[in-house]
Amino acid sequence: MVNSEAPPRAVNFLWRLLHKSFPTEKNLNRRGINCSPLCPRCWEDTESEEHIFRECWFVRKFWFAFPFTLRSGMGMFSYVKEWVKEIMKNIQSEKRSLFCTLLQQLWRARNSLVFEENSAPIEEEV
Ligand SMILES: [Zn+2]
Repeated sequence: MVNSEAPPRAVNFLWRLLHKSFPTEKNLNRRGINCSPLCPRCWEDTESEEHIFRECWFVRKFWFAFPFTLRSGMGMFSYVKEWVKEIMKNIQSEKRSLFCTLLQQLWRARNSLVFEENSAPIEEEV
């Protein structure tokens, strides 16, 4: 799915995303760790991979800012895994690494908010 020239970190990141191994609030709760399951940015929904990478208002705004059609099929797939696979299949190969980078930036922005209480607009973080 990721071309062989993709940096190992990007491949590792995608693997983790597709296997739901991110320590989202929802996953931590499921593992018995006592924390709020809500998204630390909007406090409106459970913080799942789907919410972090696709559904949070903040993320929708983020994707909307990019020229290529990353928004396509957002509503068609229940799981972020299916959506990511569909995007990777349909965008030009040179844009795949950009898509990977953007996903990683979203995860970093989330961590920055959770661990450093930094809620700067993502445009400044990317
Ligand atoms: Zn949210």
